[in-house]
Formats: sequence, structure tokens, C-alpha cells
Amino acid sequence: MSDIRVRFAPSPTGHLHIGTARTALLNWLFARKEEGTFIVRVEDTDRSRSTIEFEESILEDLAWMGLYWDEGPDIGGDFGPYRQSERFELYQKKVDELLRSGQAYRCYCTPEELEERRKARLATGLMPKYEGTCRNLTAEQEAECISQGRKPAVRFRVPEGKIIIHDLVRGEIEFSSEVIGDFIILRSDGSPSYHLAVVVDDGEMKVTHVIRGEDHITNTAKHVPLFEALGYSVPKFAHNAMILGPDGGKLSKRHGATAVSAYRQMGYLPEAINNYLALLSWAPEETREVFSLEKLAKAFAIEKISKSPAIFDINKLNWLNGQHIRLADLERLTNLCIPYLVDAGLLADRELSRKDFERLVKIIEAVRGNLTVLSEVPMYARIFLGTFEIEQDAAEWLKKTHAPEVLTALLDILEARGKLNFEDGREVMGILRDNFKPLGITGKNLFMPIRVGLTGSTKGPELPFVLNILERDDAIKRVRKALQKAKEAQSR
Ligand code: GLU
Repeated sequence: MSDIRVRFAPSPTGHLHIGTARTALLNWLFARKEEGTFIVRVEDTDRSRSTIEFEESILEDLAWMGLYWDEGPDIGGDFGPYRQSERFELYQKKVDELLRSGQAYRCYCTPEELEERRKARLATGLMPKYEGTCRNLTAEQEAECISQGRKPAVRFRVPEGKIIIHDLVRGEIEFSSEVIGDFIILRSDGSPSYHLAVVVDDGEMKVTHVIRGEDHITNTAKHVPLFEALGYSVPKFAHNAMILGPDGGKLSKRHGATAVSAYRQMGYLPEAINNYLALLSWAPEETREVFSLEKLAKAFAIEKISKSPAIFDINKLNWLNGQHIRLADLERLTNLCIPYLVDAGLLADRELSRKDFERLVKIIEAVRGNLTVLSEVPMYARIFLGTFEIEQDAAEWLKKTHAPEVLTALLDILEARGKLNFEDGREVMGILRDNFKPLGITGKNLFMPIRVGLTGSTKGPELPFVLNILERDDAIKRVRKALQKAKEAQSR
């Protein structure tokens, strides 16, 4: 293990958002690439909006993505606790230190006063900023504030001068401390601000690299001097660009699903989500685009993270998902498809006998090439698992004059043979092709009546798969029914 330590720091105030998941992925990839430590730290200082259910849901989604952590609230570690709500004493201690050294001071301004001054600044064209009203209060002035019943917050005394962020993606970013203003580190109710908690935790947890969204850059400008004031070494920063919706606005619900769990429910595979989020973050050097998580970790480099925002393109994600469905381990894929088939009423139970499971594996093998998302599986598996019905457009093929002849020939073969495997299925198709070629019945004219006779549909997997999957007796029954229908059509 190297000394590199990164953290993913979600606030448990909602489900894992796809953009936040991208930040987690980038941290994870970096940790794996550098053989470092990936920490999950739960930022639940906002007690009114944070819930344990959201924390659990975020961890569940991370685990689903395969982004396992080395230290975290559920598994502990040497730098715990990993929930900010359990670290309040530490924050208080750090605030006391800063107060003693004069790097922080008590501020007695009320929210109303602050709001009034903010408005006044805006009205005169100035950026909102704390003006330092309480920066240099005398002991008498403080005593006066206390006697008025004012409850103090604590502000960090931002040192004058330039603040420089060394960003591994963007290079040097310079801020003047002028624009920042002394910010609150402890609220008047005694709770730490986000800025304080993050800096203390990153410092105490020996975080070496902070990888997070570019919406945090101005926060970073506040954090750098605070790290220094507290005597921590300042981590390296990398701010990744945002994910935007197709209209160029920040990706949000109005663009479609944003929760990772929603994508899981729709039947996206975690490897496709990871692959897609990685492609949104940097352009791989190779021309190929389909990567496993391990390959992504190998290909990753922090400097490669893109500076420009990426547009979320669902079509690209769909394409990648289809690719990963084709690559996935077949038994795993089958297990993932089962809930969709149960919900659609095509399977009675999630628990299958070995024999039924093996048959289902064959079905999934046959249909996976058609799938974009797993929730489509009932549509394609219906021909094997549902009752045999001849669809309206499919019935047209049975009206062709040669249909009874083709179906009779198929029936003869099925009756003469036992169970067909895929190779037998190919052989059967070969025999039929040879028999009907001299009669000029080829291509669709031949295989459509066969397909309709076996599945009731004009669409579906290759016919050798179909012949292999259907039980022989069932196949015979189906073809008989179709033949009957074909004959009726002729006599009309
Ligand atoms: N808890 C913060 C968020 O959810 C992350 C802060 C950070 O990465 O420093 O946006």
C-alpha cells in the first residue's frame, strides 16, 4: 500500500446522484491505480436533512458499483469515526485552538443584520462578503454583545494576501483573500460548518488528494488557509468538470433519472455505468471504448481528468450497457434478469430448480444480443416463457401458399428427432434449406414461417437457439397449431 489516501465524502441527504457517483469513481480509480486507500466519510453535519437510510442507500449503491472502500462508517479504520456527527468534540477542540491563537474570533452579528448588510452590498454593486464587523472587538464590546443575549458564531480570520490552489487538473488557481471574507467555522448553535469539518477531517485522516467537482473550487480557496492555520499539510486538489444535461444545464431530474439506484432498477449494469462515467471524465488513449473497472483503473491518471464539462448522453450509455450485457458472465446475467421476469409474470418464483435455471441461461444467451437494458428481457424471453400466441403481423406469414408445406416438413423432422442442441438446430435448418431451395423457397420465405411456427413472432434470436431452447413436445404442439392456422388460411 502507498501513502496515498483519498476520500469520498457524501452528504446523506438523498440517494447517490450519478454526478456524485462519478466523483466516487474517480477517487476509487485513483486509489486503485496508486495502490492507495479509499475512504468513505459521511458528511452528516446537517442533522435536519441527513438520515441513516440515505447513508445506507449510498453505501449500497457504491458497493453495487464495485467501488469498495478500505475505511468507512460501517467497517471502521484507524482514523474513525467516519461520520462527522460523531466527531463534534474534535471540531470544538480545533476551534478552541484557533480562538486561542487568534486565528479565529467570535462573531455576534445576527442573521438579520448579516442579511441586511448583504443586501446593502449587492445594492451598491459589491460582492456579498462578511465585512469583518466583529474582527477586532474589544473585551468590553464582546461583553456588551453577550449582555444583549447575542449567541456567537466563530469565524476564521482569513489571512491577507493571495490564496493559491495547486490543481492537478487545472494548474494554479489564484484567489485574493479580499474576495473571500472571514467565514463561519462554528455556528451559533455549536455545530461545525462544512468548511471546518472537511478540513479537520481531511487533515486528521491524512488525506493526500482531494478529488471533487469544480463546484467546490471556491470552497477550496477557503480550505487552503484553514489547513495551514491548523498545521495540517495541504492535500493536492483535482477538480473535475460537471456533468450537464443535453440542454447544457446542470444534470438534474428534468433530464431524466439522476439516482444511481434508478439506473440499477432500469437494468443498467454497474460496469456500464462505471465505464460511461469514466468516458465522461477523460478520453481514453485507445480507440476502443468498452472497459472493465480494472482496465479503467490501469488507464486512469489524475492529470487526464477533463477540464471541460461533459454532456450526459443516454444513447451512449445505452450502447455501452448493451456491450457489457454481451460481455457479462452468463450465469450472473441470468440471475440479474430473474426479477424482471418474475415481475412480468413469466417466472413464478425467483428460486428456480437447477434444470429451470439452466434452461433460463440458454434463453438469456439467446436474447442478450437484443437487450439494451435488462428490463427489456421479458419482451424477448416471452417467446420461450410465455404461452404460445401468434402475433398479428406474424400470422401474415402463415397465409403464404408455401407455409403449410414448410411447417409440415419442420414437424416431420421434430417428430423424428429427440432433443435438439444448438448444433442439431443448425443441422435441421440446413436440411430444410436444402429441401426447399429447389422449390425456390429461400431466405425469409423459408425461415419466417418456421420462426412464426416456433415462436409466434417475427422477431427473436437465431433459429438454432430457438430449436435448442424449446422443449421438443412444446415445439411440436406449437408447430401443429401454426400449421392448423396456415391450412385454415389456405382454404379461405
Ligand atoms: N459532502 C460534500 C458534498 O456532498 C463533499 C465535500 C467534499 O468532497 O469535500 O458535496
